[in-house]
Formats: sequence, C-alpha cells, structure tokens
Amino acid sequence: MLLVHSDSTCDVCLDQYSFSVPAKTPHAIGCGHIFCLECLAHLNHPTCCPLCRKGFGIDRVKKLHVDRHIPGEREAAMHGAWSLVQRLSRCARSDVDTQTTEELINEAQQWLDADNHKELR
Ligand SMILES: [Zn+2]
Ligand SMILES: [Zn+2]
Repeated sequence: MLLVHSDSTCDVCLDQYSFSVPAKTPHAIGCGHIFCLECLAHLNHPTCCPLCRKGFGIDRVKKLHVDRHIPGEREAAMHGAWSLVQRLSRCARSDVDTQTTEELINEAQQWLDADNHKELR
C-alpha cells in the first residue's frame, strides 16, 4: 500500500492533502509523483506528469492512503498474524494432535485470504 505523510502538500496547487475532501485526496501516477485529484483532473496534458513530463495511464492512477489512518487497522492485522504464528509454533512443538494443527493451518489460510491482509504476505 502506498502511503503519504499526513501533512504533505500537492506539488501543483501546494494545498495540503485532505482525506475528507475527495478533490484533495492524493493520487500517485506511473512516474511516482503525487498530486491531488483536483489537479490531476485539470491537467493541460491529462496523460503526462506536470513535474517530469513522463506519460502515464489515467487508468493506472493510484489513490494513496494517509499514514495516520493506518496504525489501527495495521496493528489489528499484525496482532492477528502474531497470535496465529504463536499458536502455530506451539503446534510445531508438537504435543498437539494433528486435527488441531490442521484447524489452525486452515484458520491461518483464511486469515491470509482476507482482502485486507494480502499486503502482509
Ligand atoms: Zn493539487
Ligand atoms: Zn512525474
């Protein structure tokens, strides 16, 4: 996941990014430069970067997430991962029967398959 610092500003309009105003949400384009949605929507050449002039696909613009929104979500995810790892390693130390181990492995698999955990793989 791409992150942008919560007090960064857009290089075109120099406004601070905002996550409550859709027009001011930061978006990254192919070259790695980041602009607010409003500026991206009003480019003179909508397929080339206003900073470095590199072409980019408008369909490949990525919306960014601010770092301060992440900790809660990420911590919860890491906590889930950690408790699974601990339980799995307890199984590996082996006085646990195979069925319990299999259940745990299934649980770990399901956990990994959950959409919001894919980035942690
Ligand atoms: Zn802007
Ligand atoms: Zn660029």
